[in-house]
Amino acid sequence: MTEEEYDYNTIKEVGKASFEALQHAKSLVKAGKSMLSTAEEIEKFMKDKGFECAFPVNLSVNTWAAHYTPTADDKTVFTENDVVKVDIGARKGSYLGDCALTVDLGGKHSKLVEASEKALESAISMVKAGRKVCEIGREVENIAKEAGFNPIRNLGGHGIERDDLHASIFIPNYDNGDNTELEEGQVIAIETFITDGSGYVHDGDVVQIFQLHGPMTLRSQDSRKVLDYVEKAYSTNPFAMRWLIKEFKSEFTVKKAINEMYNTGGLEAYPVLIERTGGTVTQTEKEMIVEKDSCTVITK
Ligand code: MN
Ligand code: MN
Repeated sequence: MTEEEYDYNTIKEVGKASFEALQHAKSLVKAGKSMLSTAEEIEKFMKDKGFECAFPVNLSVNTWAAHYTPTADDKTVFTENDVVKVDIGARKGSYLGDCALTVDLGGKHSKLVEASEKALESAISMVKAGRKVCEIGREVENIAKEAGFNPIRNLGGHGIERDDLHASIFIPNYDNGDNTELEEGQVIAIETFITDGSGYVHDGDVVQIFQLHGPMTLRSQDSRKVLDYVEKAYSTNPFAMRWLIKEFKSEFTVKKAINEMYNTGGLEAYPVLIERTGGTVTQTEKEMIVEKDSCTVITK
């Protein structure tokens, strides 16, 4: 880490809270249950424990691999055959959690879920200072292939720094030839995405998650109010459109502000990521601290 004083106790606390919220989430995801209330209950669980959300609760179903969070008036309910990826993280100040699991409501994709879980555990067992990221990727790919599936090649793990969920290092789900080595003290998340499809995701049309990444000047006063709120409440961490609609009680105001922010180039948009050939996707993710000869998983 480049930070002068990185507080490992705080990141461990954040990891533990993230994991507890994930276990709670697992108990909430059921056929017939509303997606919106599920997301809100998970987010409330974290707040009640004294944490913010590092990013909006992601509930991505079936061929949608990641980046869906319910809309403000979402009417979707989980159905009995849904394969649900729950991806969440707690936040304390600038310290960010990140972990995920897959709930297979129909029980028809247990091999796909197992492959993702097994690939993650095997990848974690390889983590240590000096380990090349491509070696981890190769392991994930091998496990996916052995089970008869594909890893998703354009999604992967990442470094996590203060107020930066996707920092510096990228940890692939296949051997991409990247010889970058993990470093002692680094905080990383490994996330294994496995599919019975082609192994690539592309951007969908639905966008509910956004993130500030640059300064901006907005013309309309209403939009400036929204921007001020985002800066204060979320800093440069991702936020959901529904969070703003709840705060400002006007979908029109919020959408207008988001459009204005986006047009300045200072707002990142995260569209849902969809498996290119319509494959079902599973995901498992844990966050850890890289050590000299191994690692310490903190989302436990
Ligand atoms: Mn995640
Ligand atoms: Mn992640």
